[in-house]
This record gives sequence, C-alpha cells and structure tokens, in this order.
Amino acid sequence: MQFKHLDQFKTGGSGTEMQLSIPPPRTPDGRVYRLSPNEKAQPRHFVLGAANNAVVVSDAARVRMKLEPRSKKTVCPYSGIIGDDQDFTHPDDINAAVEIVKHAAIADARAEIARILKGIENSHIRVQTSNSRAMTPPPRFERRDLLRELMCDQCGRDYGVYAISLFCPDCGAPNLRLHFARELVLVHMEIENANKFENQPEFAYRLLGNAHEDVLTAFEATLKTVYQYQVAQGDISAPPCKPVKNDFQNVDRAAARFAEFNLDPFACLDPSELPILKLNIQKRHIIGHNLSVIDETFAEHATEARVGETTQIIGDDIRQFANLSQRVVDSLDTWLGGAPAPETADSS
Ligand SMILES: [Zn+2]
Repeated sequence: MQFKHLDQFKTGGSGTEMQLSIPPPRTPDGRVYRLSPNEKAQPRHFVLGAANNAVVVSDAARVRMKLEPRSKKTVCPYSGIIGDDQDFTHPDDINAAVEIVKHAAIADARAEIARILKGIENSHIRVQTSNSRAMTPPPRFERRDLLRELMCDQCGRDYGVYAISLFCPDCGAPNLRLHFARELVLVHMEIENANKFENQPEFAYRLLGNAHEDVLTAFEATLKTVYQYQVAQGDISAPPCKPVKNDFQNVDRAAARFAEFNLDPFACLDPSELPILKLNIQKRHIIGHNLSVIDETFAEHATEARVGETTQIIGDDIRQFANLSQRVVDSLDTWLGGAPAPETADSS
C-alpha cells in the first residue's frame, strides 16, 4: 500500500510503525501556540515566534538568563518554570495533528481502494464504482496572535503573551522592563492623541485622564505580578497573611509588601522624586473616584492644591509619572535577573 498523503509528514519508521511529524498551525504572524505545564501559572497560554539570530548574546546578558538561547527547553513566561519544549505543546495543536493525520490516512485508504478496484476491472470482471463523495480539503486551524508582542532584547526571540509576564520563554531573562516600556509607548501615543483636541478641553481632559490611569494600572499590575511571583517561590520567612487587594496602588503599602523580601524597589528614586510618584497615584484616585475634585487627603500631598477645585492634568505630568514608574520597574527587573539588563541596540 502506498501512503502518498501520510508520507508527506513521515520523519522515520515504516509500515504500521510510521513516525510522523505534524507542523503546528501558526498565527497570522507566524507564531505557534504554547501552554505552560505549570497549572498554577496565570495565564498559561502564550505564543512563540522565530528567533532573530542577528542578536549577539553578550556575557552580561547570559548572567541574567535561565537557559542558553535556542536550547530544547522552554521557560514559562508567567511562572519561570523550565521544561522540555514538548511539555509546552498546546492541546489544541495535539487535536489539530490528530485531525490532519486522520484526513491523510482516509485519503490514502481511498486511493488504495480505488487502485484495487481498478485491478479487478482490468481482470475483465465488471465492477461499477461510485466516487460521488469527493475528498474534503485538508483541515485548517485558526490561530490568533496575542496583543502583547515582544522581542527579547537579550536573545532575539519573538513571542507574544498576555499583558504581564516576567520572563523570555527562550532564554528566561526577565523582560519586565520591556513590557512596561511598551505600555509607556502606548501612553505617549494617548497623550499625543489628546493634544489634537485642544479646542475640545473636556474631551482632551478625558483622554489625558485615561492615559494617566493607564500608567497606574500598568504600574500596579507589574508590581503585583512580581510580588506574587516571589511569594510563589516560597522564600519568605512567613507567607503573607493578608490578601494583596489594592496594596500596590499605594507606595507605602507596596513598600511594606516588598520589605518581606528585604527589597525596596523605590530606593532608586531620590527623595524629591518619591513624593511626585505618590502625588500622581493620589491624583489618580481623585480623577477616578472624586470626579477630579480635590479632597483634603490630596491637598495634603499637593501644596498648590485647594480643596474643592478640579485637579489639573497635563501631558508632562503623565510623562514624569511614567518615567518614575519605569525606573521602579527597571529596579525590579534588575532584582529578578540578579544584574541590570545590559544596554542593547534595541533597548527602549
Ligand atoms: Zn530571551
């Protein structure tokens, strides 16, 4: 029997012990689905693209990596666990492979039956065959890219994750600062967009308020993700007794949480900068929960603020808030990697 269709996937073996290799379906941008084997990782799904081998891996970058790039192992970008590549196979791809093999096997079986019947016809026995049911085309499977697409600037691997992840799935170096830098690119675009509506101040204020909120949302989520990762490592003297809730929307409470690991991520800011960070976080609460009307708590933080007035917000405030937040995130990235990320040509 000939296996014309199955043979196109053959990588070894023969007869009934044929070894097949089915390439996984790809996203429109050419990435494949991966699923972390760590059931506690939140989320588990990510996508993996090609590697840019033009990126030269430096010794300084290697210090921060969990793996030599392009090994046959993968790092879970959310939880940091390491496993063999095949441990990260997505169940959707297994199902797709089964369907593809099934389709090829049926096509080969039909071809074989047609060949046998042809032989009978040739032996002068009259056989009437009907092949009215045409073979359906090979199955196709849709795969989607994820919103946050990154290229590890330390090893050159392209990948996609949900908004917050910690590590490059190829080399395992922390990529936290890359995530946050990408958030800030979007925030800067929001500010530029708001500037187009100077003659509609109410709408421009709304847009700037959203950009300001996006900085805090990303900052809080990043701090919380790092904290929860470290708690999961189980290397603190006593596990936290209180749920995290919104502790990372407040510098003092966030600092107390990280103190559990003897870490002060705000130490990178000088004494004049920390109050600016706190003021911006407070401003977010005023805009989000008090219709931008200054209350007594906010007036304590901002010397020029008067209770009852509407707080002002301008693009430069947001940029300053974003830059201070990025420096705190950079210090967490350094802490996770054990050393600062070396500058690269692609560094943001
Ligand atoms: Zn990498």
